[in-house]
Amino acid sequence: MQTRKPHAALLASPGMGHLTPVVELGKRLVSHHGFSVTIFVVATDTSLSQSQLLKLSQTSYHLEVVLLPPVDISGQIDQTTSILTQLAMMMREALPSLRSAISAMTVPPVALIVDMFGTEAFAIAEEFMMQKYVFITSNAWFLALTVHAPAIGKKEEDDHVNNQKPLVIPGCKPICFVDSFEPILKPNNQVYEQYLRMGTEISTADGILVNTFQELEPQTLAALNDKKKLGLVANAPVYPIGPLVRPAEPGVRNEVLSWLDMQPKESVIYVSFGSGGTLSAKQTTELAWGLEKSLQRFVWVLRLPVENDSAATVFKTSNGCADYANYLPDGFLNRTSKTGLVVPMWAPQTEILNHPSIGGFLSHGGWNSSLESIVNGVPMIVWPLYAEQKMNAAMLAEHIGMALRLKLLPSEDVIERSEIEAMVRKLLVGKEGEAFRARVKMLKSWAEKALSNGGGSYNSLANVAKDCEISLQSRNTKAGA
Ligand code: UDP
Repeated sequence: MQTRKPHAALLASPGMGHLTPVVELGKRLVSHHGFSVTIFVVATDTSLSQSQLLKLSQTSYHLEVVLLPPVDISGQIDQTTSILTQLAMMMREALPSLRSAISAMTVPPVALIVDMFGTEAFAIAEEFMMQKYVFITSNAWFLALTVHAPAIGKKEEDDHVNNQKPLVIPGCKPICFVDSFEPILKPNNQVYEQYLRMGTEISTADGILVNTFQELEPQTLAALNDKKKLGLVANAPVYPIGPLVRPAEPGVRNEVLSWLDMQPKESVIYVSFGSGGTLSAKQTTELAWGLEKSLQRFVWVLRLPVENDSAATVFKTSNGCADYANYLPDGFLNRTSKTGLVVPMWAPQTEILNHPSIGGFLSHGGWNSSLESIVNGVPMIVWPLYAEQKMNAAMLAEHIGMALRLKLLPSEDVIERSEIEAMVRKLLVGKEGEAFRARVKMLKSWAEKALSNGGGSYNSLANVAKDCEISLQSRNTKAGA
């Protein structure tokens, strides 16, 4: 059977931070490039917002969304198993059901687009003669590290890991030891092996899509496409197609947005640590005091404290948090009732960041949150917790100049209230905050241009679409021959 419209299959790994950009990519392929799209989702705990997102994608954008049967890796992990390893295991477990789903299709899709954790599915793409793409839902600097990692020599590794020297990535900004991605600091370990495997497999793709835009990371993107620099290892064209973020839905009304309606312009700091970030009880108390003492307005998405695990809700975003007030300093809610709002567990982040009363974002620096801040022109305070967030923090603060950084010193177990207080003031009412606000508003307008018809990110995805069309034509020609 011959088909005219290119059909792409997208594979999303567990977690809202992975699913959201994949859905946004699917929407753009459908609405701007005439594709039909099937999104395969590997899910663990399907939270309310996740299922809402999937429902919306199907009804409003004609995306076919297939939830693969839930995977169970509980027998293979213990408390020490890293998130990266767990994601790799889950994606591996999902391969047989992905393969069955694709083989059950009358005509296999022309392309398979996986995220960083799904590269083992390239074998399935090859079996069904599909184009293979990887979509990095983080930034180009992290992609650069990932494709460079398998080429790091012993001396380089020793200098970085043991002598704490910056890690050089050809053509890119080096990574300071204190900002390094954790697996890099633990070579000869299972997590590092998984990470190296991903780096190697990414380089075998027909193309690498990345959720960034040219103006945000010009140097790194140039290095990735330069055969004398990273192009040697990346070995596939790199396409900046972002920033792809869930847009604010018009007409959404809820308690937080109504409260924001009553606050002055750019006067409120939004505090949230992504889908997975958690703080200890002591740190939660310090944050509460810091916000109160800053005398600034705030909206705080509060999670129950968890000791010794800063990523405790990565795979289990739940919606309830009944007794959250017990974890706050005595009288905090009363004293801040006129200036602050505490939201348990989860809030409509994009709608909040899009509200004119928001003047800053205190965030863990997850890449989706960072891009959401950029597209809404909101400067940040970054407080990295896990994954590649320290690199993101360095990039947002030092390379791009739109954020302040909160750093936990090795000698401390918490970031103190006085530091939080000072940073919040600096961002909302200080001169530095003003400069960051101007900078991020400029980035916002560049981002809009990049995504609009004829812009850099628009054209990048159009090139991917063109390659898929050529591949489809050649498939149809062969079928007709
Ligand atoms: N998010 C949200 N409400 C919340 C917390 C998070 O809508 O209360 C969304 C946020 O808008 C972002 C995603 O969850 O799109 C988190 O992704 P990010 O990459 O920032 O962090 P991760 O959760 O992957 O660490």
